[in-house]
Amino acid sequence: MVDTASLERELHDVGTRLAGSLPKPTRHPLKAADDKAMELAAQDAEIKAALFRFVDVVPACRSLDDLARHLTGFLGEVEEPPPPVAVAMRMSNTRAGRAALGAAAAAGVRHMAHRFIVGESPQAALGVLRDLWKDGVASSVDLLGEMTITQAEAERYASRCAEALDTLSRATRSWPDRPRLERDGAGVLPRANLSVKVSALTPLLRPDAPERGKRDAADRLRALLRRARDAGAHLHIDMESLDSRDAVLELVLELLAEPEFRDGPSAGMVLQAYLRDSPETLDTVLAWVRGAGADRAQPLTVRLVKGAYWDHEIVEAAQHGWDAPVFEVKADSDRNFEALTRRLLDARSAGGSGVRVAIASHNLRSIAHAVAYNRITGGDDLDVELQVLRGLGDPLQAAIAAQGLRVRAYCPVGDLVAGMAYLVRRLLENTSNDSFLADQARGVPLEELLAAP
Ligand SMILES: Cc1cc2nc3c(=O)[nH]c(=O)nc-3n(C[C@H](O)[C@H](O)[C@H](O)COP(=O)(O)OP(=O)(O)OC[C@H]3O[C@@H](n4cnc5c(N)ncnc54)[C@H](O)[C@@H]3O)c2cc1C
Repeated sequence: MVDTASLERELHDVGTRLAGSLPKPTRHPLKAADDKAMELAAQDAEIKAALFRFVDVVPACRSLDDLARHLTGFLGEVEEPPPPVAVAMRMSNTRAGRAALGAAAAAGVRHMAHRFIVGESPQAALGVLRDLWKDGVASSVDLLGEMTITQAEAERYASRCAEALDTLSRATRSWPDRPRLERDGAGVLPRANLSVKVSALTPLLRPDAPERGKRDAADRLRALLRRARDAGAHLHIDMESLDSRDAVLELVLELLAEPEFRDGPSAGMVLQAYLRDSPETLDTVLAWVRGAGADRAQPLTVRLVKGAYWDHEIVEAAQHGWDAPVFEVKADSDRNFEALTRRLLDARSAGGSGVRVAIASHNLRSIAHAVAYNRITGGDDLDVELQVLRGLGDPLQAAIAAQGLRVRAYCPVGDLVAGMAYLVRRLLENTSNDSFLADQARGVPLEELLAAP
């Protein structure tokens, strides 16, 4: 039993050191423009709505004039525009002004997308991934895809994933040694790491017929598991909205328990702490680790997140007249995240094939809590992996690496059009009032950022 005061002291120490290792903000002009756009969006709900609608239509725009018309059209609906927006509106009164504005808007959107998306294909992303590795940051590649509506699209996504596994495992062989990223108490960690979405592997994943979706995705996921095993890569299965949660979880646990996967690959799933019933989901996972999955040679990696579909879950429940399945107070999600972190860290040595713990968050308190609890219970720093999203967690990943901790960046790969939905989700998250990153950007003091939720 860990006493709260010692844990808070250690947490404060870890959080303060991490904050002290954050790189100083750079004065890169384009980055400053990105930040300015996010700041404007964060301050003003109307501008936020206008920018999101604009980002949505960019891929469909045919010309610069077209882009500028949409941008000024959306911004024109903002009743009291702040000065930068008023200037943009004046520029749009002439054809030359519209062209200049359109070019700036297109460049801005492309630049912002590149902040989150590392390359158009795994091959094109290799340079960035290798640079990250050299700087002490591992990666997990996520192939952005369009919504899978047909079997042909599911096939295409599956074959892109298979190629990505091969490309990554081939290229990573020549990377320099980085012992901190390659081994933990449970053994070797693959250098090549791919995250996949079950909803992209089948067009049939529907809450009213979960078995059909599972059956359809199973063959494609099984083939990817074989490919990952043969390539010595790690395959991670992301979690999406609640309506597919049970099907995804059952599918992953059933496939990994099949005898052909006893010796590999290294694989993992995601637990979402914003779900009220996530403690019971963890019970299920831990029972599997000690039961059906006990013979596996590799521990199951559990990536703990808060959850990316909060607005969706709230709206969906309201539409059906259901109780919200997610916590409605941010501090409740944060507290549950900490409780699940402690249970996961305690479970590493609790028998069966064991779990590897990955804490995925940009919240300094949430990650400092994991590092502190692990230390205080006698764990090795390298037995907790910290994970961040490319573009949102860049300064944090540098601080984590500087502190000698293990960090992995989740790196989306794909084209701009396919990336728009991803980009909008990240922007929404980053500018939400309940976001840690927004608090940090507003200059909330460290003491408050590290305070117990
Ligand atoms: C490497 C990585 C992989 C990820 N993979 C997945 C994945 O597979 N599936 C997935 O769903 N998400 C995934 N996420 C996203 C994650 O779930 C969070 O959305 C994101 O990290 C923000 O949480 P935070 O701890 O960084 O920030 P914080 O600012 O501390 O937390 C924000 C989160 O709190 C929750 N929240 C916000 N408002 C409220 C409220 N009013 N009441 C209750 N809770 C609220 C939401 O979950 C919101 O995202 C991933 C994140 C990372 C870093």
